[in-house]
Amino acid sequence: MIDFQEVINEIYSDLKTTKDKGTVASYIPELEKQSASSFGIYLKHLGGKDYHAGDWDVAFSIQSISKVLALSKAITFENKNLWQRVDVEPSGNPFNHLSLLEQENGIPRNPLINAGAIVIADILVTHLKNPKEDFLNYVREITGDQTIDFNLKVVASEKRTGFNNYAAANLLKAYNNLDNDVEEVLDFYFHQCAIEMSCKQLANAFYLFTHRGECINKTKHLTLNQVKRINAIMLTCGFYDEAGEFAFEVGLPGKSGVGGGIVALLPNDFVIVTWAPGLNEKGNSLIGMQALEQFTTKTKRSIF
Ligand code: GLN
Repeated sequence: MIDFQEVINEIYSDLKTTKDKGTVASYIPELEKQSASSFGIYLKHLGGKDYHAGDWDVAFSIQSISKVLALSKAITFENKNLWQRVDVEPSGNPFNHLSLLEQENGIPRNPLINAGAIVIADILVTHLKNPKEDFLNYVREITGDQTIDFNLKVVASEKRTGFNNYAAANLLKAYNNLDNDVEEVLDFYFHQCAIEMSCKQLANAFYLFTHRGECINKTKHLTLNQVKRINAIMLTCGFYDEAGEFAFEVGLPGKSGVGGGIVALLPNDFVIVTWAPGLNEKGNSLIGMQALEQFTTKTKRSIF
């Protein structure tokens, strides 16, 4: 029997003292306030036990991790039409890259790069009555936690500096791949990215994708087929131009965010979340990736 708590303690103490912790994101000025020395790990095992270390209970900006939750809601509204508007191929490019979008006539490579996530946001704005509120309630519901909220300072910060996302949304609009107004869709997108959650809350939210579409309060939200697709997209596209590296080193479906969080999971087994705000040059948490590599190596648990 593996002693998961011991493995997590080992990883935590090994990486806590590492000198190179990466660089905290500064292109969204509000995120720059985070400390590169924050570090948390949370493991939620389907067997019912949870294990953790460090800053696992501190809420941080989930940023692009929200794209998976948005997709999981959008897929329940439009399962077929959605895939006409967004592809499912890895982009091999940074998360905010635009030239492929133009080359491919406004069809984003996948729902986890920014352009693809903006199309998903558009679908949610179309289908939800009060988009921001309803989406937040969905996240609260699957997590079983009513305290989760937006950080409005992060929203304002990204609105001021999100020129790249404005460019993406305008390009999508020019290619007729955005039904609602650019401003309205981006307002929703910036809010979804600015949701704050702790490692524990994220592990509870992503339990759904490990547990065949059923969330922690036992409500079924997704079919098995939808879960298969979302996990496949996380594996192939969750880390942008580092998706190959993450599969190679860690071997799990997962998703990162520029707030420094990473969620990874093994279907029918566990969800693991790390938070360490220092990023590598591809925009993924440097220490988080190292921690997950150590975890799957030490426990010999990966999809491969
Ligand atoms: N809100 C961020 C952006 O749109 C999300 C990017 C990320 O986490 N990779 O740039």
